[in-house]
Amino acid sequence: MRKSYKTEINPTQEQIQKINKTIGTCRFIYNFYIAHNKELYNKGEKFMTAKSFSVWLNNEFLLNSPEYLWIKDVSSKSVKKSMENAYTAFTRFFKKQSRFPRFKKKNKSDVKMYFVKNNPKDCFCERHRINIPTLGWVRLKEKGYIPTTKQGYVIKSGTVSCKAGRYYVSVLIEIPDQNKPQLNDFGLGIDLGLKDFAVISNGVTKKNINKTERIRKLEKQLKREQRCLSRKYEDLKKRNNKMKGEATRQNIQKQVLKVQKLHHKIDNIRTDHINKCVNEIVKTKPSYITIEDLNVKGMMKNKHLSKAVASQKFYEFRTKLEAKCKELGMELRIVDRWYPSSKLCHECGCIKRDLKLSDREYICECGYHADRDYNASLNLRDAISYKIA
Ligand SMILES: [Zn+2]
Repeated sequence: MRKSYKTEINPTQEQIQKINKTIGTCRFIYNFYIAHNKELYNKGEKFMTAKSFSVWLNNEFLLNSPEYLWIKDVSSKSVKKSMENAYTAFTRFFKKQSRFPRFKKKNKSDVKMYFVKNNPKDCFCERHRINIPTLGWVRLKEKGYIPTTKQGYVIKSGTVSCKAGRYYVSVLIEIPDQNKPQLNDFGLGIDLGLKDFAVISNGVTKKNINKTERIRKLEKQLKREQRCLSRKYEDLKKRNNKMKGEATRQNIQKQVLKVQKLHHKIDNIRTDHINKCVNEIVKTKPSYITIEDLNVKGMMKNKHLSKAVASQKFYEFRTKLEAKCKELGMELRIVDRWYPSSKLCHECGCIKRDLKLSDREYICECGYHADRDYNASLNLRDAISYKIA
């Protein structure tokens, strides 16, 4: 996995000169490449790729125009990169993805000094400094922001840029795979529902946050404040064109804010709960997790269910679980919503067609009995037909 980090640097005067000179040269080359291709086009000649331009520049142009030899004074990797960037701008234009490449203006452009790791000592990064090819050790303003080489992180490449007199380094880091945890060889099935938020096949149950005292109290309070707000609106209507109108209006604003704040508070608690659930589930490091493909849209259409479903944030849960699984290398299995996870006996495999929503206990003729949702979570865990998210 690759990750990029950008942070401010504190270069010496000498380094600043070098950076500015490199960026200036790169801008010149970028513009030169565009101008040269324009000229070729006008003469009816073939378009030049970055590679052939580089060959032409070194073997032909610089030989005949030694006054331009200063191009060679700066990092050749960086110069090459600016040709590639200009070439990319052209290919985007050819594919009709962007307009004709424009010349980069001094001080107004995003030209950067590019560097790449060529030998083992390049791009070495310590807590307080980074070794940038052609610049040497450069001080970092924020110590320890970029993961250090000693911790096992390798910087592959990066850029130095300047904005409003400040200098920044941006690096691309290869994050070692050891960061992915060793997974256990069990899987988890999760039955999501309205009674409990989640019943997990390892026996853990996650509560429905909306049934907690805390949320209930806040919901009650919210209702009270909302009622108060609508009363105030009524009041305003009655007082229409009367002196007290303005005061009532301010009063309403205050009340609107109160209601909004409560909404936020409740929403935050719900999101928190989702995050906690996701983290606690992946903490057990299962090699896979199976959930049902919830028909959230369908449930939302049901008037009685829609509020309960929306407030449980099932969709957010699934999105976050999926992201976490990807990050940690776990497989997220999605079972078709027609899979009879609740009606299947986990012991003998028979299907109980007359299972009602009110049946909290699953009792089978084979003698097996278990909590209905727990039985469903076991069936989800052992499902053999699924797609991978
Ligand atoms: Zn059975």
